[in-house]
Amino acid sequence: MMINTHSPFIFVANNLAIDFVNTCVQKNGAPFELLNSEMDFLSWAHQAGFSLSVEVPEVDLQRSYQFRQALKTLFTAKADHQPLPSKALELLNSYLKNAPIQQQLVQTSHQLSLQPLNSVLSFDQLLGDIAYRASQVLVSSAKQPIRKCASDQCILLFLDISKAKKRRWCSMEICGNRAKAATFYQTGKAQQENTQQ
Ligand SMILES: [Zn+2]
Repeated sequence: MMINTHSPFIFVANNLAIDFVNTCVQKNGAPFELLNSEMDFLSWAHQAGFSLSVEVPEVDLQRSYQFRQALKTLFTAKADHQPLPSKALELLNSYLKNAPIQQQLVQTSHQLSLQPLNSVLSFDQLLGDIAYRASQVLVSSAKQPIRKCASDQCILLFLDISKAKKRRWCSMEICGNRAKAATFYQTGKAQQENTQQ
């Protein structure tokens, strides 16, 4: 199966479960879906570093949308310091059952992470693994807060792992620079107006 390597996907959240939620973005004020086919889903999983048993494609897009919506509901509630809605929590728990139990600790250049021991996952195990990562961020959100991008033109979420805990943008490249440019433009304009008076 050919995997599309030209990527529209965004990996800026510091957590793959939040990156998964960020596969629905906002374009011109409306939600914009990045997972439009089974192939898109497999391509996302591949870029996220998962190996799926692709010989038997069993991707169920509708279920992945439903699961993603539940995660978004939970992350948004956490970001807003609200209790977790119980329906979404129930759905997360139903997927958590499929999380691969056998894990291994993997060390990369800057961090340690727990990863499934068997690197080839079924579709259900992949969603299970995402559910497990989602649970970890929800549990540890007092130390590492989940945030919404500060741009009103953006719906992306991220985990704030900065020391000062003051990260505002999904990424400098996507929203930070745009906001800076807008402020610069406004201040520049104000200064111009002032000098004209
Ligand atoms: Zn943003």
